[in-house]
Amino acid sequence: MTANNGIYIAGRWENGTTGIENRNPSDLSDVIGTYGQASATQLDEALAAARAAQPVWSRAGVQKRHDVLMAIGTELMARAEEIGRLLSREEGKPLAEGKGEVYRAGQFFTYFAAEALRLHGDLAESVRPGIEIDVRREAVGVVAIVSPWNFPVATPAWKIAPALAFGNAVVWKPANITPASAIALTEIIARQDIPAGLFNLVSGPGRDVGQRLIESSAVDAISFTGSVPVGRSIAAAAVTNMTKVQMEMGSKNPMLVMDDADLDLSVAHAANAAFGGTGQKCTAASRLIVHEKIHDAFVERLVEAAKALRVGHALEEGTQIGPVVSESQLTQNLEYIGLGQSEGAELLCGGDRLERPTEGYFMAPAVFANTRNDMRINREEMFAPVTSVIKAGSYDEALAIANDSEFGLTAGIMTGSLARASHFRANMRAGCIMVNLPTAGTDYHVPFGGRGSSSFGPREQGRYAAEFYTSVKTAYVAAGDVS
Ligand code: NDP
Repeated sequence: MTANNGIYIAGRWENGTTGIENRNPSDLSDVIGTYGQASATQLDEALAAARAAQPVWSRAGVQKRHDVLMAIGTELMARAEEIGRLLSREEGKPLAEGKGEVYRAGQFFTYFAAEALRLHGDLAESVRPGIEIDVRREAVGVVAIVSPWNFPVATPAWKIAPALAFGNAVVWKPANITPASAIALTEIIARQDIPAGLFNLVSGPGRDVGQRLIESSAVDAISFTGSVPVGRSIAAAAVTNMTKVQMEMGSKNPMLVMDDADLDLSVAHAANAAFGGTGQKCTAASRLIVHEKIHDAFVERLVEAAKALRVGHALEEGTQIGPVVSESQLTQNLEYIGLGQSEGAELLCGGDRLERPTEGYFMAPAVFANTRNDMRINREEMFAPVTSVIKAGSYDEALAIANDSEFGLTAGIMTGSLARASHFRANMRAGCIMVNLPTAGTDYHVPFGGRGSSSFGPREQGRYAAEFYTSVKTAYVAAGDVS
């Protein structure tokens, strides 16, 4: 095993009791490394170390926290190409996306470096004479972070950065399928002048290390991104321990394409949002709800666009769509293709496994047409390069279809009508609304999150992140009379 193999506790790199091999999904002969899996004892040590380090960090003050976060962010941005290449190699997104993700992760740190300095409170007059009130935000304590593989650097960054900025300690359980990215980020954090134990990396299987972490009463807050079933079990554990919790989960993001929309732009945005990142984004456009007047023309061009996409090795020049992340994800995707067909949807292109010069999990982007919103392919998150077209007779019908979902993360409308765009923004039940833009693609300085089964708890990102990573304290002070 390598020296840094996935477990960083109390300021030390440690070996795991067991290890797992990590292979490149673009080329299964490429072994990236063998990575340690934390034991229950190591997890307990990490939690104890975090508990001890947190007050020290909190007392270190906002200038110190700012400086540390700024250094982490600056290094991530400077090394975006190098770390992005590693990310693309293990996760499978094309190099430009891997590099972009690492740069974005850096921006989360530099943004929250400044937020550390902007931790303002409130002053109030008491209703009782002679008493002054102040309202401050304090660190929550020890934050458990459980993150997924699809954005293995950016998602932890948008959780770790505010956690540290506001004075918390972190115990991070990354996705087990992307350990190298987790180590790259941890190495940068570990080099900073921070108390030993402030930041801990405990790699290992979710059902074991992850489960123990989120069930631990030594955790004050849990931030999770991943699937709905795991989210539900985390919510149940959090309620048992009365632990603060925040979760971002799946979605079935609709994109309305109206009869007054720019057709070429609509096709480009739909293809980008449906197939970018191999469809493995919680913001992917998986339900394209298209006005009947332009339906046929839109579908024809979308199929052309899907067929033209270059699927291949993530690190190969010109690749637009990388492989699916894992064999189990590919198997699930292919099962959804069969399910869609059995439900009566018409598969217009793609949906099959592709051969490439290297053995990998390549899949052709798929478009289903003639689908109904009650089909399972339109109700369940597939996390695949697969999108469904649903025909609608009017804007009102399209909006009703869009809102008929348990999820509500992002939602888009392509239209030339300000009236429709404004109505959509007001009446679509989703956390993020996109007008004449893809459903995927958000900024780093404003809140991100959704409604329904997509999100639970306070929003992530931007200054709204303070709601989760701080606890509000109201102090009443009776100074007394000057004698
Ligand atoms: P999971 O929800 O299983 O994994 C997300 C994270 O949770 C990983 O770190 C995982 O660890 C961990 N985890 C798993 N089980 C537990 C548990 N019992 N207690 C605590 N932590 C746990 O998602 P998958 O990666 O398995 O993906 C499955 C599906 O989830 C996808 O097909 C997609 O639909 C959805 N998903 C949605 C994401 C989003 O951004 N909304 C992101 C990723 C997935 P480990 O890696 O070891 O399993």
